[in-house]
Amino acid sequence: MQTKQCSKCREVLILSDEFFQRNMKNGDGTRQYWRPECKKCNKRETQDRRRSRKMYNQPTSVPLGTPCDNCARTDQKLVFDHCHDTLVFRGWLCSSCNKGLGMVGDSIEAVERLLRYMKKAERRRQPQPVYKPAYQIPVRVRQAL
Ligand SMILES: [Zn+2]
Ligand SMILES: [Zn+2]
Repeated sequence: MQTKQCSKCREVLILSDEFFQRNMKNGDGTRQYWRPECKKCNKRETQDRRRSRKMYNQPTSVPLGTPCDNCARTDQKLVFDHCHDTLVFRGWLCSSCNKGLGMVGDSIEAVERLLRYMKKAERRRQPQPVYKPAYQIPVRVRQAL
């Protein structure tokens, strides 16, 4: 029997319709993929989003062309972004920013860690100054010595 670990609660469950949601990619149903989180987490996530949206009086969706709250692009549908622990509404994000945030770790600590890494790499890019003696004895003089 195939099992799968939920990406959210980390529980290992049987890979079936009982525990995971399946998404049909094509109309013919040949390419299916399972959602990374279990049905229970998926349901909680949907409920949390709804609660947060109500708390902050946000619409279900914003019109296409609304700039992303992080990168300001206007060509993508935006998703409602909230803190998963506190339900605090953070903003409307394009799917790239939303996915990126999720992959990095979805917390200030995770984003700061990445920022530190980037800054460190930037410093490393600058070549270290090579030690050069201020004065070198001209070759001719050196041979004469
Ligand atoms: Zn789960
Ligand atoms: Zn964005």
